[in-house]
Amino acid sequence: MNTRSIRFRLIAWYAGLLTAVFVLLGGVMFLRLRDYLENNLLESQARWARKIAETLLVNVKQTGEAFVASEVEKLYAPELSGRFIRITRKDGSPLYLSGPPSDQSFDPADVPAAAASPQREFTRKQLLPDGHALLIAAFRAAANGGGSYLIEVGAPTLAIETMLHHLLLLLGLGLPVVMLVAVAGGYVLVKRALAPVDQIAGKAEVITQHNLSERLPVARTGDELERLSVSLNHMITRLDDAFQNSKRFVADASHELRTPLTVLRGELENLVQDARLAPDQRDRAGSLLEEVERLSKIVERLFALSRLDAGEAQAEWVAFDLGELAVSTADQMALLAEDKKISVTCDRPARVPVQGDRARLKQVVVNLLDNAIKYTPDGGAVHLKVATSNGAHAVLEVADTGVGIPAEAVPHVFERFFRVDQTRSREPGGAGLGLSIVKSICSAHGGEVDVESVVGRGSRFTVQLPLAKDKNHQVNPT
Ligand code: ADP
Repeated sequence: MNTRSIRFRLIAWYAGLLTAVFVLLGGVMFLRLRDYLENNLLESQARWARKIAETLLVNVKQTGEAFVASEVEKLYAPELSGRFIRITRKDGSPLYLSGPPSDQSFDPADVPAAAASPQREFTRKQLLPDGHALLIAAFRAAANGGGSYLIEVGAPTLAIETMLHHLLLLLGLGLPVVMLVAVAGGYVLVKRALAPVDQIAGKAEVITQHNLSERLPVARTGDELERLSVSLNHMITRLDDAFQNSKRFVADASHELRTPLTVLRGELENLVQDARLAPDQRDRAGSLLEEVERLSKIVERLFALSRLDAGEAQAEWVAFDLGELAVSTADQMALLAEDKKISVTCDRPARVPVQGDRARLKQVVVNLLDNAIKYTPDGGAVHLKVATSNGAHAVLEVADTGVGIPAEAVPHVFERFFRVDQTRSREPGGAGLGLSIVKSICSAHGGEVDVESVVGRGSRFTVQLPLAKDKNHQVNPT
C-alpha cells in the first residue's frame, strides 16, 4: 500500500475526521446526559425535602417530633424506595434517619453530616466509604413557633452509572463500526473520484513521439480532473506541433542540403583530378572532398531518418527471404572486411520470410555489418546469423570480436548522434546515426533491435522482425 498516494491520504483523513467527530459527539452526549440525569435526580430529591418541610415539619411543635418521624416512614418509605432521608435538629442531633434500603446498596449511618451552609437549599454528591455515591438535596425548614431543621433526601447514583456505562459500551462498540464504514465509504468515494486519474495516467504512459496525435480521455464531469485533462491535451497539441515543426525542419534542411553537397562533391572530385593544379592543392582538395563526403553521408542519414519519422507508405513492401538478403549484403561488403583481414561467416536456415521494404532492411544489415567491421580490429571475426524464433519472429544476429561497448553506453547506442567515444569513429559517416536508422527501420517493420556487448570481447546486435504470414510468398532476387 502506498501511504503517500492521494487515495490513501484522503481515506485516512476522511476516516480520521469521521472518527474524531464521532468521539467528540459521543463525549459531549455522555457528559450532557450525565448532567441531565444527575440534575433530574437531585431535583426530585429536593421536591421530597421541600414537601417534608412544608407538610410535616412546619407543624412539628403541635404534632411532636415522633409523629413527624413516623409519618416520614409511612409516607415516603425510604427503605423501600431506596432513598436516604435524614432530619437533623439545629443542634446537629438527628430527629430521623432512614434505615438501609432493601437492596443494602448503602448504609445511611455512613453518610457524614452536611457541611454548614448559609443557603436554605443546597445539593451535594456524597461519596460513601463502600465506593457508592449519593446525590443529596438538603433543605433548611423553619417550624411554626420557632426551631429549624435540616432535611436531607438522597438517592444512589447507581442507576445513572449503569445507564452511562451502557452508553459508553455502545459508543465503544460503535466506534470500530463507524471507522469501518468510514474507511469503506471513503475507499468507494475516492476510488470513483480518482478513476479518471488512472485512465489519464494509463493513456499518458503510452503516448510517445510516435503517437503524439492521440489525446488523453476527458471525462465530462465539469470538475478539476476534466480541466486537468483538457489542459494536458492542449499541452500535447502544442508539443505535437513543435515536434512536427522540428521534424519538418530536419527533413527540409537535409533535403535542401543534398543538391549543393552533390555539386560540391562533383566540383571537388574534378579538382582532385585536375592535373593543372599543384600536388599540394590537389591534396587539400582531396581532404576537403573527404569532409564533404562525410557531410553528405550525414545529410543522407538525416534525410533517411526524417522520412522514417514521417512514416513512409507501405507501398514498397514485399515478402522476401531475410537470410538471402543478409548473405548477399555480406558478400557485397566482403571487400571492406578483406581490407582488415576480418573473416565474415554466415549461418542461415532454408528460408526466413519477412514482409517489408527490402531496401530499408538491407540498410539494417549494411549498418550493422559496417559497424561490426569498423569496430573490430584487424584479423577479427564477424558472424552473421539468420533464424526463426518461436515460429513468430525472424531473427538477424550480427556478432563481432571487436572492441565492444562499455555497459554505461549500451542504453544510448541507438540514440541519434550518440557515439561511445567521439574520437573512435571519426571515419566517414561516423556521426552516431547508423544505429538510430537501424532502430527506426526495425520499429517501422514492427520489430526491434537489441545489443549485448563486452568491452574487449565483442558485441552482438540482434534484430527481431515479424515473420511473413504468407508462407508461399514471392522471393525477390537482389
Ligand atoms: P557511427 O556511425 O558513429 O558508427 P552508430 O549509430 O552506428 O554511429 O553507432 C553508435 C556508436 O555505437 C558508435 O559510435 C560506436 O561507438 C558504437 N558501436 C556501434 N556498433 C558497434 C560495434 N559493433 N562494436 C563496438 N561499438 C559499436
